Amino acid sequence: MNPRSALVLAGHGSHISPHTAGQVWEYVDQLRARNVAHEVTACFWKEQPSFAEVLDTLTAEQVYVVPVFTAQGFYTQRVIPVEMGLSGAVTHRGGMTVHYARTLGEHEHMPNVLLKRVQATLATHQLDPLATTVAIIGHGTRRSDQSQRATHDQVQWLQQTGCVAEVLGAFLDAEPSIPSIYERATHPTIIVVPFFLAMGSHVTLDVPAELGLSVGESYTEQADKRVHYTPPVGSDPNMVDFILELAIEAGFVPATDLPTSAWQGFPQAGWESFGAWWQAHAPVRFGELELTAQVLGKGHANAPASPSISMAELRQQMRENPFRPLSSAISLPDRGYHDFSSLAHGCALVETIYPGAIALWARQQQGELSIFSLGAVVGRQVGNFRHIEAEQASAPHLQAICSACTRQPLWRGEGVAVVAHAIPCPEPCNFWLTSAIGAEESDR
Ligand code: SF4
Repeated sequence: MNPRSALVLAGHGSHISPHTAGQVWEYVDQLRARNVAHEVTACFWKEQPSFAEVLDTLTAEQVYVVPVFTAQGFYTQRVIPVEMGLSGAVTHRGGMTVHYARTLGEHEHMPNVLLKRVQATLATHQLDPLATTVAIIGHGTRRSDQSQRATHDQVQWLQQTGCVAEVLGAFLDAEPSIPSIYERATHPTIIVVPFFLAMGSHVTLDVPAELGLSVGESYTEQADKRVHYTPPVGSDPNMVDFILELAIEAGFVPATDLPTSAWQGFPQAGWESFGAWWQAHAPVRFGELELTAQVLGKGHANAPASPSISMAELRQQMRENPFRPLSSAISLPDRGYHDFSSLAHGCALVETIYPGAIALWARQQQGELSIFSLGAVVGRQVGNFRHIEAEQASAPHLQAICSACTRQPLWRGEGVAVVAHAIPCPEPCNFWLTSAIGAEESDR
């Protein structure tokens, strides 16, 4: 029998925009629908489940982690390995082997996605290639010059295709700056392609602001130039194939014989014990959810259950309008109750609402949950969080963050009584740490 396998997509996430992680969850949904791995999930720097906790949500023996970033750099080379405890391309971790794949932006066909964006814009607006400059916008960072290098490589490649007269690179957080393209471009028309994966805050707010575009606009005239702004590269339909190919390159063998259950692709650690507790004690509370033997939701269980909902729709309902970057925040929208057809379906609904929570709950019930103090978490940081002081844990505004969360902050070490229906929190989350440094700087 083939070993159980899992695909994990590791993305950045955001505290500002639902679309940064939302794009990664879309890839997850597509991979689950293909039924190629026993478990498929995502993890994030800024959102839940975190890089640090995701491996504990899986039951697979062979795990393939694909970084969903546009370039190798600070996050892929330093943050993810430290947070996930990876020692290289292959890491043995108890009975699990974790394979760390190349980054999505390194896929050989990524330049073709850029080329497609340019060709589509030329055709749609009937632009003259010989009178057009393309500007590829990368993120860039002062922490590592490698992400700039990826954009420079794309610029060079596109220039060599001869698809337009001129190709330039510019960066959101490095030099040359985005506004510099107005001085550097030598042609009257500029096609600006954001080399980003999601329609997150960089693509919808930050880059347009630098270009002089209003929110939602895709065309402007600035400094005697006609500027066409394209969607980001991550919305290309081939991205999921690229992710799969990178996992295969790392050793993943797509399964062909998995049962076609719609709930097969979810991370399943703890489902058995959680399901048994749920069945034995229903109705029970879990976070803000009420779980009965037939339905689950927030509010009054005797309200009529809504017809079955897809996981993508449910996730969107729970995360957006307004955006809830912390899935465990006590602000779950009251959208009524959901039917479930089996306990596995019920667990998949809970996992979609509270990613990673069932595994945390089960580990705590089994006495296997490791708790990490603020000092321990700060001690492993490679970025700004390493400057956080232990005393900050007692700051009232930081205590208030945990008071507004359904997770129980066991890491605070205040003798918090363990409650059966509570979701345990073993270490300060990114939302808390970001508040502790008093900025959204690390969202960048
Ligand atoms: S650190 Fe506090 S806010 Fe963050 S998940 Fe834990 S309990 Fe919730």
